[in-house]
Amino acid sequence: MRFRILWVSLLITTFAIILYSLVSTQIFYNLSVKNSESALSVYMNAFDGEKYAPDDEGARAFSLALDGARVTILDGEGNVLGESEADSIETDHSDREEVREAIKSGEGFAVRSSDTLNKNMVYYCRAVQTDGGTILIRIAQFCESEWAMYAQLLPSFAAYMVFDVLGCLLFTYVATYFIMRPVEALTREAATGGRVQTGYSELKSLAEILNERNRDIELKVSELEEERKLVERAQNSKDEFIANITHEMNTPLTSIKGYAELLSSDLLDEEHKKQAYNTIVSQADRLTNLIACIINYSEIDSDDLPSYEVNLTEAAREMIAVLSPEAEQKGVKFIDETQDDVIIMSRHERVNQLLGNLMRNAVRYNREGGTVTVRLNFSRLEIEDTGVGIAPENMDKVFSRFFTVDKSHSGKNGGFGLGLAVCKKICTRSGWRISVESELGKGSKFTVDFGLR
Ligand code: ADP
Repeated sequence: MRFRILWVSLLITTFAIILYSLVSTQIFYNLSVKNSESALSVYMNAFDGEKYAPDDEGARAFSLALDGARVTILDGEGNVLGESEADSIETDHSDREEVREAIKSGEGFAVRSSDTLNKNMVYYCRAVQTDGGTILIRIAQFCESEWAMYAQLLPSFAAYMVFDVLGCLLFTYVATYFIMRPVEALTREAATGGRVQTGYSELKSLAEILNERNRDIELKVSELEEERKLVERAQNSKDEFIANITHEMNTPLTSIKGYAELLSSDLLDEEHKKQAYNTIVSQADRLTNLIACIINYSEIDSDDLPSYEVNLTEAAREMIAVLSPEAEQKGVKFIDETQDDVIIMSRHERVNQLLGNLMRNAVRYNREGGTVTVRLNFSRLEIEDTGVGIAPENMDKVFSRFFTVDKSHSGKNGGFGLGLAVCKKICTRSGWRISVESELGKGSKFTVDFGLR
């Protein structure tokens, strides 16, 4: 960039100097011609018709009086009568510009290269009245041509040009240093990735663009970082999911295999054989149940079926009716505090899963003689029990897959720790918020907030 500025300024100044030298030479030349013309016209006043005869002699005498200026004396038609220069041979000068002018208007000027003398000359011709009639007196003076003048001035111009080039180099170097300084400072700031600032109005829009780009880059980097974490988390959670499934399957499979081996060994009596058959069947059911739960859990993610209006009140009351026999067996009572006709946008199967999992847990983890209160209005659903409650350290975990507080009881009641995970997934996909409040030994309250939708 610096070199480019240098070259451009050098080119401009060189061009300017050449142009200036040509123009100034032309001006000098014009001035010099003008001066010559005035001088000749003054000289001409010295002509005296009585003193200088209209012949070569007279012309030479007048020339001598004029310090050697060339003098030509012509008759009224432009024919040469006398000439101060010995080598002049032409006799008819009527075609000369200055002569024509003088014949026409009394005087005339011309500048040209003399054919006779081969020099650039300024001519002045004037008509003079003598006793012998009108004669024309022409005085000519040597004058440098433009190019000759230019050639004479050239060394001065060249010296000037050298100084100018040196000055230009110095000036451009200093100027570019000051011009480039803020740009370089801006570049350095931009390279650090921080916010770029400048006091120069010309660079403000560049600084804004750089800041915008930096912001975009930062945003993209944090998005990529976020994505990377998500992918990592998804991978971890996938691994954990597979490990959990394997673990959950292993227990019934080991049991089935053990009892099957016992049966084939023929060591069991009839009663124990029956027990073994029953265990095999119940463990096989548990496996089937686990697989159904996993499939159901995975299906929610790919469930893109459209939502429709669901009467949540009806669904909740039906679920209370379904679970009442199981609750009665445990001495647990349902308290229905649902508002009539609460309609939400969802799907029946999802709503039933949500209600079923929450209510079944409220019964299952309740105490003898406890209650399950179901509250429902347009903004929220609450299922509150008077059961065992959840320890504070487990509150965040209950919605995780395969989480069960009492591992030894995992699966005993058909629970694999997937029920609340399913509830969480349904709520997240529906735009609802599910939360839990609980006190150990006193009970739990699960709330689904529809308001965040
Ligand atoms: P599970 O099928 O084992 O019940 P969930 O995902 O439904 O799986 O529940 C996870 C764990 O959260 C349960 O094992 C239980 O310990 C605890 N939990 C769920 N609901 C309640 C509740 N109403 N009261 C006390 N603990 C509960």
